[in-house]
Amino acid sequence: MSQLFDLSLTGIRDRLRAGDVSAEAATTACLERIAATEPAIDALLHVAGEAALDQARAMDAAGPDASRPLWGVPITIKDVLATMGMPTTCGSRILENFVPVYEAHCVSRLREAGAIILGKTNMDEFAMGSSTENSAYKLTKNPWNTGRVPGGSSGGSAASVAAGQCFASIGTDTGGSIRQPASFCGIVGLKPSYGRVSRRGLIAYGSSLDQAGPMTRTVADAAEILQVIAGHDPKDSTSVNAPVPDYLAGLGTDGSLKGLRLGLPEQYWGEGLSSEVDAACRAAIDLAASLGAEIVPVSLPHTEYAIATYYILAMAEASSNLARFDGVRYGHRSSKSSDLATMYTRSRCEGFGEEVMRRIMLGTYVLSAGYYDAYYRKAAQVRRLIRQDFLDALQSCDLLCGPACPTTAFAIGENTADPLQMYLTDIFTISLNLSGLPGLSLPVGLGADTGMPVGLQLFAGNMDEARLLAAAAALESNLPAMPAPPIA
Ligand code: GLN
Repeated sequence: MSQLFDLSLTGIRDRLRAGDVSAEAATTACLERIAATEPAIDALLHVAGEAALDQARAMDAAGPDASRPLWGVPITIKDVLATMGMPTTCGSRILENFVPVYEAHCVSRLREAGAIILGKTNMDEFAMGSSTENSAYKLTKNPWNTGRVPGGSSGGSAASVAAGQCFASIGTDTGGSIRQPASFCGIVGLKPSYGRVSRRGLIAYGSSLDQAGPMTRTVADAAEILQVIAGHDPKDSTSVNAPVPDYLAGLGTDGSLKGLRLGLPEQYWGEGLSSEVDAACRAAIDLAASLGAEIVPVSLPHTEYAIATYYILAMAEASSNLARFDGVRYGHRSSKSSDLATMYTRSRCEGFGEEVMRRIMLGTYVLSAGYYDAYYRKAAQVRRLIRQDFLDALQSCDLLCGPACPTTAFAIGENTADPLQMYLTDIFTISLNLSGLPGLSLPVGLGADTGMPVGLQLFAGNMDEARLLAAAAALESNLPAMPAPPIA
């Protein structure tokens, strides 16, 4: 018999609304699933079980409220988003006991919409990584194969959704951290356009790149979440004041892609792409063509510079953003210092992990006098060219598409010895953050060699999430349903 946690977000939401399932029963089902699966996958850093049950019971006492689109739906939140009264560590020792006194804008929106926050998900420290192996606290395992990584940096969110611990999670994506773990864990991950979702309360890594977005089991679920979290926030100066369309109305039901021009960037289909990912993605594109999409070859000529450009800009911004963790205002303070300068140094050295320190040093270097022009300024110029590539390609098509990642989920420990090798795994996701455009990873099946999920990535023009979601939903409705991961 299917269980409550097997339902999609829209599925449980409809039952909650109809009064067939109580908020307490939905929350209990998730907490039981967490208890059953956490020993194997370690997706969560904090579980707020009692608070979630109290909230659910209070909601049940008042009765279902159809005006709140997520009434009674249990979800999890990446630990980089500030949650009032709940720890927010960013996967770092430096924020080990930090409980924010304010809440991220998107988290407040979710609560107002009736969602129940079950807990916080594991992540690479300060969202720096592609495997969640940089967390200071635990190693999250992929629910499809616990010898493999869940991807990163939102690996805890992806594993938690894939394992049925919650009906959705909020991740963040600076260079692929929603789309890549979604692809590795066989779920849907949407990075909205820069400015579509407020960054207030998203603890900054690369401020010009960071975006929060939905990680869900279906496209319609991602649309539901985006509908709630999208929109202008006057308290975030980078939040865009543009109308939010009705994403759900645009999803359609006929599953057709007639009239859609789908661009295939030649640079996304060459060297380095594993044959199983290539085959699964091409099969999905053939399906799109059979549904009426016109396939258009396009080029993104500056793709080869994307990794270098991204890592210069992201590290520069990180070095500046992380200067605030000094042992004075919040977070860890070293007890082994007698003067101010050593207190700063020791607090930071004890609090930050290796990858974070590497990035702060490299970021400080590229911003330093004498090197700024050669690195930071040059990278900022190349970034503009990369964005222009997308804008040019989108002249001849409506959406672009390619693999989300060159491979399926790699083995735990496989890329940890060589940071550069780890950075190279981001090749297909980072250009989109440099461009500010939205992208979505859709599970299209299992790789023929590893048996692990493969994600197809769709990219759209700025603020065109509605079209992205509509096309992804049409494709999804014609693909065989993804099986559940083989976790107990
Ligand atoms: N893997 C990339 C990095 O390490 C992207 C991470 C992210 O999107 N937060 O920076």
